[in-house]
Amino acid sequence: MDCKENFEIKKLTSFKVGGEIAKVYFPENIDEFLEAIEKEPNAFVAGNLSNVLVSSDGYDGAVILTKKMDKIQFDGTKVTAGAGVRGTKLSKLALENNLSGLEFMVAFPGSVGGEVFMNAGAHGQMIADVLKSAKIYCPEKGLITLNNQDMKFSYRTSICQSKPYSVLEAEFKLCKKMTEEIQAKMDENLSFRLNKQPSLTLPNCGSTFRNPQGDSAGRLLDEAGLKDFKVGGVHVWENHANFIINDNNGTSLDILTVMYEMYKRVKDKFNIELKPEVRFLGGKNEKEVEICKILYQK
Ligand SMILES: Cc1cc2nc3c(=O)[nH]c(=O)nc-3n(C[C@H](O)[C@H](O)[C@H](O)COP(=O)(O)OP(=O)(O)OC[C@H]3O[C@@H](n4cnc5c(N)ncnc54)[C@H](O)[C@@H]3O)c2cc1C
Repeated sequence: MDCKENFEIKKLTSFKVGGEIAKVYFPENIDEFLEAIEKEPNAFVAGNLSNVLVSSDGYDGAVILTKKMDKIQFDGTKVTAGAGVRGTKLSKLALENNLSGLEFMVAFPGSVGGEVFMNAGAHGQMIADVLKSAKIYCPEKGLITLNNQDMKFSYRTSICQSKPYSVLEAEFKLCKKMTEEIQAKMDENLSFRLNKQPSLTLPNCGSTFRNPQGDSAGRLLDEAGLKDFKVGGVHVWENHANFIINDNNGTSLDILTVMYEMYKRVKDKFNIELKPEVRFLGGKNEKEVEICKILYQK
């Protein structure tokens, strides 16, 4: 199996930030994943790193990246996708097969595994609406299959966030529709995104904070005056205050410093503690560890 030591991760992250990772495994299928996790039971499992901020000082542990687990199989209205399949690709293939249900993934930079883990969603749809079952690696039992109910989906979360579960494959139940109808929905979603979210030409990690119940993190951050707030090479996007853009070779510390300011100003003004949607991988830089203790309350 492909395994790299002291691997410079920066280019693979959507934030274009991150130092050396001690070991990175790139399994191509479930058997290779099992081999990797047996060697590295504490490995951090990730997909396309579109929602992870990796420390510029690197990470001493092992990472398993599922990018190459990218098999897709259509069978009637059912589609089975490996953890590493990109959401965008899956939605386009569903369109080609006249299958509706994945239009919301049209410009998703994440992998199926990351999307199931996060219960990713947009445009009023989310993974929980279409997932039939997921093949999961569970350290205690090995390979298990969980159905939609077992996954305990709710807003941007699944059972995989409270248990050490890795998503290896997902089965989606779609429905037949006319190509034109599916295409129209995808076009509508795409044009909404082009106006409301930064594209990946501006390195970013999607929404920085989760929406608090009944409110919008973007609104709170905007009213707290965060738009265009800058530290080092990064700034809060001028069009929507819940996005951080790294367009000037910023570091992970720049990003965490901005996140802390966002958190603090909203707490001071509204007495609401925002919770990060972006995950952090690091631990070697003391200042970062201190900020993470507050942001992630660990
Ligand atoms: C430009 C942009 C737009 C975005 N738009 C949206 C959006 O509209 N809606 C939305 O919900 N999100 C959005 N995101 C955020 C992100 O794409 C999603 O959270 C996505 O689900 C992350 O997938 P990933 O493969 O990149 O996961 P990663 O970033 O690699 O990992 C994210 C988390 O998932 C875990 N994980 C990843 N793969 C697995 C696996 N196989 N098994 C277990 N755990 C795993 C990781 O440990 C980590 O904690 C956007 C991000 C960007 C950069």
